Amino acid sequence: MKPPATVGEALALAQGRIPRSEARLLLREASGLSAAAIAAFPERALEQAAAARFGDWLLRREVGEPVAYILGEREFFGRRFRVQADVLIPRPDTELIVEQSLRFSREWSMPRVLDLGTGSGAIAVSIALECPAAAVVAVDASEVALRVAQENARELGARLDFRLGCWFEPVAGERFEVIASNPPYIAAADAHLEQGDLRFEPRSALASGDDGLDDIRHIVATAPQYLAERACLLIEHGFEQGPAVRALLIAQGFQEVETCRDLAGHERVSLGRWN
Ligand code: GLN
Repeated sequence: MKPPATVGEALALAQGRIPRSEARLLLREASGLSAAAIAAFPERALEQAAAARFGDWLLRREVGEPVAYILGEREFFGRRFRVQADVLIPRPDTELIVEQSLRFSREWSMPRVLDLGTGSGAIAVSIALECPAAAVVAVDASEVALRVAQENARELGARLDFRLGCWFEPVAGERFEVIASNPPYIAAADAHLEQGDLRFEPRSALASGDDGLDDIRHIVATAPQYLAERACLLIEHGFEQGPAVRALLIAQGFQEVETCRDLAGHERVSLGRWN
């Protein structure tokens, strides 16, 4: 394939293969040109390296690789996070659990905050930066994910504590004012796992047993040992799992149980307080 010589040729090459908005984004990132330049000057020459990069990215996107993995980053809560295939791509929906965790964290002057299954670190790093008084601990069972999260914290100037292990294992004996988690919550047989971006993401970050609730059940049942007086547990879940997660929290003895809706109006984060 001959690399495109101009902006217009590059966009024409992508035509009908990937959505136009994605072609513009990939071209912008590959060339360093502004969105305005790309829109206004189709005759503008592309450097050879930029054209080659764009051609490579186009092929990868065409077979379904997520844009975030191709570019190696995704914006979350107003900041750029590095991502790679070992971590879940941060979703806009997940900003909700950050907002809610901050709401509760700010009730304390020096809250201890735990993020379970931190992945890219999007939740933990955002909380650490938005609430500098918080002492944030981020846990993940994947060594590679933890390295990605550490890198994000360093690049974004966040100070937090990273621990390798499964859910609560690495924080034995500790207590927290806020525990937040975006665990895997998709049913193992859900067809969505074989579609779109999800095909490329770590299965361990997505699927959780027959009904998708295995990890949430474990977290709800185990959290009380790790919660301080009046502390709050917040869990992200699927848009149809609100009633089930509220029931788990109530059965466990949590109080003030409620569910918050994401921007699309879906039940997305359920929470409760421990007394
Ligand atoms: N919200 C993601 C999706 O459905 C799933 C993330 C998760 O399982 N924690 O695409």
